[in-house]
Amino acid sequence: MLAAALSTFWKSRSATAATTPAKSVAELQKNWRALLADGIKVPAAGEPLKLSKEEWRKRLTPEQFHILREEGTEPPGSSPLNNEKRPGIFACAGCGLPLFTSEMKYESGTGWPSFFTTIPGAFGKSTDYKLILPRTEYHCIRCGGHHGHVFDDGPKPTGQRWCNNGIALKFMPKNAKAAT
Ligand SMILES: [Zn+2]
Repeated sequence: MLAAALSTFWKSRSATAATTPAKSVAELQKNWRALLADGIKVPAAGEPLKLSKEEWRKRLTPEQFHILREEGTEPPGSSPLNNEKRPGIFACAGCGLPLFTSEMKYESGTGWPSFFTTIPGAFGKSTDYKLILPRTEYHCIRCGGHHGHVFDDGPKPTGQRWCNNGIALKFMPKNAKAAT
């Protein structure tokens, strides 16, 4: 009896191992800090950053201000981050909150940096009607800065396409040497 039970146990174990993807979305979300460079401090979602319009104008470039604070959209194909493939973290250009990891990025062919999931709790959502049909707008939970729109035509397993303005992001490579 015991031998039979053990044999069934090992069979089911190896079957599970063979069909489990290298890293599940839940793992990518849970272990996002593995992509953070050593010794780098980042803000937490629970520390809100509220600034006046004038303070944001001083802090951001005119392009960043337009996207983040006026819900602008950059021209497709304009962001160098479309081709960014190094391991690391994509943080909010407004407040530094980590939003995505390099393992969540994929090539959507749209001309905007695209991700199939996010670091948990990084964004709030709203519905906008700028193009008549409703779209789901998303923004940084910490500073309220607009980042992009999320669509349901992304790759498996999430089916999500987080279409992000590159200007709204700051890339922090995992292997960056901390400034001394
Ligand atoms: Zn932010």
